[in-house]
Amino acid sequence: MSDETKKDGVTRREMFGIGIGTAAAAGTAILGGLALPALAQEAAPKDGAKDAPLPKVPRRKLGKTGKEVPILLLGGAAGFDPRFDPKIAEAVRFGVNYIDAADCYSGGRCEPAVGAYMGKAKNRADLWITSKSDKHDPAGFEKTFLESLEKMSTDYIDLYYLHALEDASVFTPELLKVVEKYKKSGKMRHFGFSCHGGNVVELLNKAAATPWVESVMFRYNFRSYGNKDLNEAMDRAHKAGVGLIAMKTQGSEASFADAWKKFEQAGKWTKHQAVLKAVWADERISAAVSHMDNFDKLRQNIAAALDKSMLSAKELQAVNRYAEATRSLACDGCDHICGAAVAGKPRIADTIRFVSYHDHYGEETKARQLFAKLPEAARQISSMDFSGANRACPNGVDVAGLMKRAGEILA
Ligand code: SF4
Repeated sequence: MSDETKKDGVTRREMFGIGIGTAAAAGTAILGGLALPALAQEAAPKDGAKDAPLPKVPRRKLGKTGKEVPILLLGGAAGFDPRFDPKIAEAVRFGVNYIDAADCYSGGRCEPAVGAYMGKAKNRADLWITSKSDKHDPAGFEKTFLESLEKMSTDYIDLYYLHALEDASVFTPELLKVVEKYKKSGKMRHFGFSCHGGNVVELLNKAAATPWVESVMFRYNFRSYGNKDLNEAMDRAHKAGVGLIAMKTQGSEASFADAWKKFEQAGKWTKHQAVLKAVWADERISAAVSHMDNFDKLRQNIAAALDKSMLSAKELQAVNRYAEATRSLACDGCDHICGAAVAGKPRIADTIRFVSYHDHYGEETKARQLFAKLPEAARQISSMDFSGANRACPNGVDVAGLMKRAGEILA
């Protein structure tokens, strides 16, 4: 393909600014608006070498799966074009060949879109596909797995997760039988789970003690560093060979509160890039999944992944200052703490997450639909008193304010 061909999205020329002005003349590559001199020698094709291969995002071993995956993963929750998504094609060109799908993403449209992409690109063998089941009982899990295969028109799924696991007691011999059956047939290459909730420490410890759990995807970002229990659980899981994948790495705000502090960029990396690099600095983490719903985010994240330099001390300090300044504006999902201080059965962390989808990601319909799926008792937020939750939250999150906001936009 020519450098100028735009079939799959951004061109090599756009990606690296090849030939653009003085930067290129000086041998500096421009990616995501950033000057990346270190990439220039590696990435920019020399005269007469227009078809030189593009640089690929580094890869790390995913625990006991023994397989290497790119450190940057394409999150399917961002939504894909159901006919053929050019963002997937562009990501794959730079080695981001891991697509993180789920049965429920985009209201069930994610898996068919992944199938449509693979059908047109004819590159199944070059991809790593992860998908997830919202059903955690053995029969439900098996049924959803078979549906996932069908929806993606694929003979196998590289890694299949129990999605958003909360209950550590699901690892029964009956579930193991289902997993073994499909692993033996080659339809399910590896097995694990994802978790959003507040019992991530318990679940990571469970994963470490369960030999057939090969990977866990969990909430991990720049605000997690000081969490001793989490770090010990990560150590155990990592030592047991559980491949660790970070999600929610941006640690996004619960809402566009006026008090939200801006990231003070201390080097060449934007906030989005800096916090990703901060996660990659943790060698226990194999990869970070990212919500890249446009080419700009994709381009910026690939740039951050391709550049092997570490954050400078100044940049790390900026990340830490940002974490501190925004601490009370982001929720960690540990609603067994704040929920216990409220009469009623609210789902505080989920509700705050939906507010975030609405206010931060602009996903108003999805936010309302997800809220509508909560049990009726959890939706009665206007009749609950959340002042105790405010006092209980160790991070100082304004639960009452966010629940009021949720009542206005989600109910
Ligand atoms: S509001 Fe606070 S206690 Fe409740 S889930 Fe969020 S971070 Fe945890």
